[in-house]
Amino acid sequence: MAVAQRTSFLESVNLMFDRAAALLDVPPGLAEFIKRGNSVIQVRFPVKIRGEYRVLTGWRATHSEHRLPAKGGIRYSPHLTQADVEAMAALMTYKCAIVDVPFGGSKGGLRIDPKEYTEEELEVITRRFARELAVKGYISPALNVPAPDLGTGPREMVWIADTYRTLFPDDLNAIACVTGKPVTQGGIRGREEATGRGVEYAIREFFRHPEDVERAGLSGGLEGKRVIVQGFGKVGYHVAKFLDEEDDAKVIAIIERDGAVVDERGLKVEHVAQYFREHGTLRGYPDALFVEDGRTLLEEECDILIPAAVEGQITLENAPHIKARLIVEAANGPTTYEADNILRERGITIIPDVYANAGGVTVSYFEWIKNLSHMRFGRLQRRLEEMRGEQVIKAIEAAVGRPIPDHLKAGLTRGADELDLVRSGLDDTMRQAYNEIREVYLSRRDVPDLRTAAYVLAIDKIARSYRETGV
Ligand code: NAD
Repeated sequence: MAVAQRTSFLESVNLMFDRAAALLDVPPGLAEFIKRGNSVIQVRFPVKIRGEYRVLTGWRATHSEHRLPAKGGIRYSPHLTQADVEAMAALMTYKCAIVDVPFGGSKGGLRIDPKEYTEEELEVITRRFARELAVKGYISPALNVPAPDLGTGPREMVWIADTYRTLFPDDLNAIACVTGKPVTQGGIRGREEATGRGVEYAIREFFRHPEDVERAGLSGGLEGKRVIVQGFGKVGYHVAKFLDEEDDAKVIAIIERDGAVVDERGLKVEHVAQYFREHGTLRGYPDALFVEDGRTLLEEECDILIPAAVEGQITLENAPHIKARLIVEAANGPTTYEADNILRERGITIIPDVYANAGGVTVSYFEWIKNLSHMRFGRLQRRLEEMRGEQVIKAIEAAVGRPIPDHLKAGLTRGADELDLVRSGLDDTMRQAYNEIREVYLSRRDVPDLRTAAYVLAIDKIARSYRETGV
């Protein structure tokens, strides 16, 4: 197929799909069906804001329903298009398959700039949008479950849940109609950090395989690695923070919309975050160099580049100049199809979006399960585990005839709470999926990189599901 000079987000995702599907023995019609989305709805509705009517446009795309509910975030962005929503819905399908989360793929959003509205106005807009989608079957705990994405967060998710509950008061599982809620409103501990945490777990797993590290042109562990993060929102903030505080990596630059901060010695991420929260910009941050044209820093010397902002950031133009050895795609679609080809030819390793940012949907799955079970994880067994730990300690102390040191006791007598269980489940999911992708990559000579391996894995699983259930 002739590739246009500049491919859109949706075209990029579809070309990446085609490249992988061509390596699989999937009947052509079935591959085409998996690739094409099932349905997409466009809604237009008026809201009265500051005395005048504004007509807003939004979409919800359901890419696949081989597993239900279909799952995917809701984005608020002034640049949103239907095609972008469809691209992200497709990524959700592949992502869920890769990490074995039993959901179909969906995505939605409104073409608005949330910064233009007050909190009260956003509530009116969100509730109206939620109603439009819910009455048309595009929000429901059984069929279609949104989550936060760019420009939305726990606050919007509560408004959506409450709107749904008002419309369908007899739905016992109404609270499961959306994930990413605050913990006090049926959310789960660890969801807010989940995507960033998942990216961290993915990077850690990569560094557990010395051959992969060497193939990428790196050596040693994560400690001391020079990292650049683009986008300092929910995902970028968490991953930068964890790499800085828990993995002793050096976050040397953080790139935001209106500029970047740079410190070769490593930024104190939490300090930067406090400043960013207070001022809404990185400009003026006192303890680092400010670079006006932040995007140029994507090409800066570093070990790991983590795009965590928006799609289409690594393109035909800058791909030849990227110096990172490892790119970890925390954002959806940060690399265009052409850029992907250039980076592969240049031997740069990419941990692809369809896997790298799957932590969000994984923990959303845990939240959905929690909502359906109407009980917090760990509630039944936590004290039992603690009691067992105490018994084990007593038995060991009786056998060896001396007390166990207190710091060892503390670990043994602590039952797992919800956050422990969520992190354990997320870590396990990210490790397992990395190894499945890696296995495809290493076992097939025709699979040129981890992205193609991830797509091969996804398409294979989805095709199997359709074959077994019958189309
Ligand atoms: P967010 O709105 O919380 O943060 C995005 C940040 O990126 C903002 O601070 C914004 O100012 C910044 N930004 C926007 N355009 C930029 C640009 N051109 N250069 C530099 N910075 C820019 O959004 P988020 O939830 O962190 O999502 C970020 C990305 O991660 C998106 O691609 C999203 O689809 C993806 N993602 C998010 C989740 C999730 O759970 N939130 C899950 C999977 C994937």
